[in-house]
Amino acid sequence: MKIVDLSRTITPGMQCFPGDMTPEIERLEADGFRTANISLCTHAGTHVDAPAHMSSQSVTLDMMPPETFWGLALLADARGAAGRGIEIADLALHAEKLAEADFLLLRTGWEDKFGTEEYLAGFPALSCEAAQYALSLGIRGFGFDTISADSVESEECPIHKTLLGAGALIIENLRGLDALPAGETFLLAALPMPLANADGAPARVMAVLEN
Ligand SMILES: [Zn+2]
Repeated sequence: MKIVDLSRTITPGMQCFPGDMTPEIERLEADGFRTANISLCTHAGTHVDAPAHMSSQSVTLDMMPPETFWGLALLADARGAAGRGIEIADLALHAEKLAEADFLLLRTGWEDKFGTEEYLAGFPALSCEAAQYALSLGIRGFGFDTISADSVESEECPIHKTLLGAGALIIENLRGLDALPAGETFLLAALPMPLANADGAPARVMAVLEN
């Protein structure tokens, strides 16, 4: 069994969605003990978006049962979709495995650009049709190695609306996807911090591989 950590370490000033505050960590030491005060946006680093991210009437992470954050995942290699977007055909290749899976992780290759301006632009987004297709096969969590499920300039955010509107989770800023087998299912845990009223929360995301 091999465990792969797909989460980014939270560091002060790490790249976040434009306009969001970046993490602040104040280290303290007193009487021989070390502690720290942290200040975080709920969408900093690798994190989970709840349906409540776009609608105050919708469910928050802390309202969701623990089973929500566990399941079988499938990785689709979408590196060839740069410049055109991720379409049904890219997912239909894996239709059989996708029907078994709870989570779909999309590898765009953009994780290598993290921390640079290039990370924020030009990544291939999932089309609404492809999102609907995956939802129709029972996918209830969508993971991206990008800063957002929608392009950064998008004002309408159609993919957020489609996925969160269907009650699915979105995971953003994944890393380490190159260690995962494409087209094979594996166990995934995407465990957000247990915050009250969480529209989103930083998460530890790990894959469990057979070998
Ligand atoms: Zn988010």
